[in-house]
Amino acid sequence: MRILVTNDDGIMAPGLLALRRALAELGEVTVVAPTVAQSAVGHAITLTEPIRVHRMNLGDGLWGYGVQGSPADSVKLALLELLPERPDIVASGVNLGTNLGVNVLYSGTVAAAAEGAFFGLPSVAVSIEDSDVVDFDGAARIARRLIEQMMTDGPDRSGARPGEPVLLNINVPDLTSGEPKGVKVVPQSMKGFSERWERRTDPRGRTYYWITGDHDREDQGINSDIAAFYEGYVTVTPLAFDLTDHDRVADVRGWDLTL
Ligand code: MN
Repeated sequence: MRILVTNDDGIMAPGLLALRRALAELGEVTVVAPTVAQSAVGHAITLTEPIRVHRMNLGDGLWGYGVQGSPADSVKLALLELLPERPDIVASGVNLGTNLGVNVLYSGTVAAAAEGAFFGLPSVAVSIEDSDVVDFDGAARIARRLIEQMMTDGPDRSGARPGEPVLLNINVPDLTSGEPKGVKVVPQSMKGFSERWERRTDPRGRTYYWITGDHDREDQGINSDIAAFYEGYVTVTPLAFDLTDHDRVADVRGWDLTL
């Protein structure tokens, strides 16, 4: 199996190195990732600047391609230019910090995996809860087990719908406070982050703003990624990037819009 590993925390991030190590047991891994951290850039791509690529020493005698661009740029370049052969799977992570609820829309980690799916490849995004000590290797091993099951248990698992590859968003709770209760396949929550702006004053007396807030940890009685995650489960959410609100199409047609 050929595996493309990428991320949004940058090519030298410990989470990527852990994922690369864990997935090397499944096949041949190639790393193509942004040279610097690109968290929360979402599905941005670079249009007005050239993109340079550097072969980089990742330690342990392994090399990767550092891309001076976004996570989505990295996957596009990998698949169309850098890889000699099409990989069998794209794995993005292990991201430092969860990607739950609507946060998937801001996530460069998820966007990189989605880019793989746009190219028709099964893809996974893997994230672990931020904590004082982060067990990236533990999260990467969990990802490997889930990927193995996704890839080896029959071709029916490689297509959620005919012609569309599976795109999985995997979130792993803090592993230093105990084993997860198990794994749950759950829909994405519509919650994410309770935001607020911190208003500060710069040395010249001018106001500036810095966004902050807390992760939403509850999803009142709803069976969702956020609810299951904070109950202590590893969550797996199959994602689709058809953003159409299918339930509303008939309603809006009923408005008889005219020009
Ligand atoms: Mn990140």
